[in-house]
Amino acid sequence: MTGATADLLIRNARVVAGERVFAGGVAVSGGRITAVFEGESDAVATETIDARGLTLLPGLVDAHVHFSEPGRGHWEGFATGSRAAAAGGITTFVEMPLNAHPPTVDAAALALKQAAASVSITDYALWGGFVDDNRADLASLQKGGVVGFKAFMCTATDFPRIDAALMREGMRAIAGFGAFLALHAEDEAMTAALTATLRAAGRTDRAAWGEARPIAAELAAIDTAIDLADETGARLHVVHVSSAAGIDRISAAKARGVRVTAETCPHYLFFDDSDLERIGPLAKCAPPLRNAREREALWERVLDGAVDVIASDHSPCLIEEKTAGEDDIFKAWGGISGLQSTLPVLLTEGPKRGLSLAAIARMTAANPARLFGLDPQKGAIAVGADADLVLVDPDASNALAESDLFYKNPHSAYVGGAFRGAVIRTLSRGETIFLGGAITAEPGRGCRLDGPGLAA
Ligand code: ZN
Repeated sequence: MTGATADLLIRNARVVAGERVFAGGVAVSGGRITAVFEGESDAVATETIDARGLTLLPGLVDAHVHFSEPGRGHWEGFATGSRAAAAGGITTFVEMPLNAHPPTVDAAALALKQAAASVSITDYALWGGFVDDNRADLASLQKGGVVGFKAFMCTATDFPRIDAALMREGMRAIAGFGAFLALHAEDEAMTAALTATLRAAGRTDRAAWGEARPIAAELAAIDTAIDLADETGARLHVVHVSSAAGIDRISAAKARGVRVTAETCPHYLFFDDSDLERIGPLAKCAPPLRNAREREALWERVLDGAVDVIASDHSPCLIEEKTAGEDDIFKAWGGISGLQSTLPVLLTEGPKRGLSLAAIARMTAANPARLFGLDPQKGAIAVGADADLVLVDPDASNALAESDLFYKNPHSAYVGGAFRGAVIRTLSRGETIFLGGAITAEPGRGCRLDGPGLAA
């Protein structure tokens, strides 16, 4: 460009734009990216950020967070959750319909959710819930602007699971809206029976959690869901896949034309079952952490492009809900607080295994944006897209401390972990919302991103 004017110029960065990584920068005006350039720009800007030594990535689109509001705002809430998102380089989060009370399963609950979410400092979208008794409410949720539907195949707190017959029915309805169904895929019969057997045998130890929820339970559920998606033509997204074999089932289904995508989480790529043993309840999640060999097999699937989305599954709670499981792992809340750890995990563990920056941007931003229909506004460094950007220092080393966490309850399995790569600055629509360890944005500046609604 020659002498164009811009609100903001970010220069001297290592830019990750689609599959290309190069030295250069971006120009921003009116909250949107107006130029992406290699080398230097002669644009005249009101503000210039010299990003020497830093990498510029698209702001993350976190497909899977639980902010527990309304009803359990003492667990997280949108005020603290969106601040933590900004600190983690997340510029759009998509909030799950459960762990709040009421869960987001009808239009009235969606209105309560929207009221709670209005304090967000980052942009966001909302999931709707599909449970055992709300088939009549799915259309009103879709009309209300949810960007997808979430259901559980196994028991969850305050969120009645669906069985295969109901899933089939729901898939038809959801496909009719042009929407998609996301599933927590663990087989109820297997996990319930194993849990009962282990409990009856007096097992309360940490390893028992993994034994109660084996990979076979995940695979049985994925197989059922894929068969139904194949039959109904519905679009399916399998959340937090914990095993390589789970990803392989999804890849095989894709190859034969089933519309299915796979998500995994940083905790399955960073921890293994020895960490549950060592850390205890803070590292309890479902599906559970697998062994180190399985973790590396999952990494292979990430590296070969078989994983579509990496999402945090930030699932916070009071510390008391975790310490309750010190002597009986089954009594602890299952969920890891990880909103601020997605980029540090990928920037620490990825390069060791040859993961490219472009692949990180694809799985954390471009693909989730596409999944929810938020592209091309969100998810990429491209002309015309919102200037949702994150500057990271790939060489910064630090040990994560509780004092670094913006969570309402600042505990996490990741505390004490050694990371390489730190979020330095986060911008949302061109506005700096996180800088130098501090939040620089006011509550309520975040905008809700609506789904397509119901066709007229
Ligand atoms: Zn979740």
